[in-house]
Amino acid sequence: MKYIPEKKPIYGETLESLQDRLMEIGEHAFRAKQVMEWLYKKRAHSWESMTNLPAPLRRRLESEFEISPTKRLLAKESTDETEKLLLEMGDKSLIETVVIRAPQIGVGQRDSRKTICISTQVGCAYGCKFCASGLAGWKRDLSVGEIVSQLIHVCHQEDATTERAKEEIASFDNIVVMGMGEPMANYENLLPALRILNAPWGLNFGARRITISTSGIVPKILELADEPEQFRLAVSLHGATNAVREQIMPINKRYPLETLVPAIRKYAETKGRMITLEFILIDSLNDTSEQANALADIALQLNAHVNLIPYNTVAGLDWKRPSIKRQESFYQRLKRANVSATIRREKGHDIAAACGQLKLKVEPIAENG
Ligand code: SF4
Repeated sequence: MKYIPEKKPIYGETLESLQDRLMEIGEHAFRAKQVMEWLYKKRAHSWESMTNLPAPLRRRLESEFEISPTKRLLAKESTDETEKLLLEMGDKSLIETVVIRAPQIGVGQRDSRKTICISTQVGCAYGCKFCASGLAGWKRDLSVGEIVSQLIHVCHQEDATTERAKEEIASFDNIVVMGMGEPMANYENLLPALRILNAPWGLNFGARRITISTSGIVPKILELADEPEQFRLAVSLHGATNAVREQIMPINKRYPLETLVPAIRKYAETKGRMITLEFILIDSLNDTSEQANALADIALQLNAHVNLIPYNTVAGLDWKRPSIKRQESFYQRLKRANVSATIRREKGHDIAAACGQLKLKVEPIAENG
């Protein structure tokens, strides 16, 4: 299903496309740069506030472009300082965007980055068995403007719900594309959106601080490897053999490990960057010593970092979180094999740990909030 809004979202425009449009309507191309400065540097909320643009041009732009394609319905801050934003699109579809401000603490690792986790689709067609985003299926792809405007919601200090947000929200360290949807399935809108975030006239956010998480769409991983930008890649593995991975990730039938692993290697080698393998630990499914050994083999082959995420038990889904003892034993087996690995133990932080885990991970926060 494609949603065509009445007005085009301005955050879906590039400097060049806006210059072209302005020249088509008899305006100077330099006005496009002024508009971008208002949007991305001065964080303007309205056309009216763009005071160095002539009033007739402001009215013309307002009639053609939507400045707020998403509406914030709800913002909740969890006790561990993760904030969930529920955003409504023009067609009433809902998506979730998450701001993670608290320190991330893993075994042997401590840091304190601020990260925003964004969505790329309404729902998801890939049906991973542990993921709430996939439960209701795919509704539609987000447009370029809808993807970018999630960041803008976070950046608008006036929209911040807490004092902490007001102080901190305008700056963050990482963008992770791990929210609702499979980003690579919306590649045609994902890439232009990330380029707008990356552009000097846009948010000017470094590509190396943007992570794209995928369930393993091999052709798109290879396509992304050929793009000039240095985006980080995280792959949701969740099973270290085809037999186990297939039980929870239907995509493995289409792109089994024999094709996925070489694609990841190509990405890592082309970019010269370490890839992250996300691995949700599920009791008695993939938390065995055999799986740990197989995972260690893959990680060492790829020189990849492994991010272990103990599963959060959710009503409606049958899987269970392994005991701390089993988690630790799995983690230690990786460490003994000299694999770079972390394990996330704190609720809220695992929001950013795997493709499409947003709804599943955030709902408990809403209950607590
Ligand atoms: S884990 Fe990712 S690919 Fe799988 S259903 Fe969830 S959103 Fe889709």
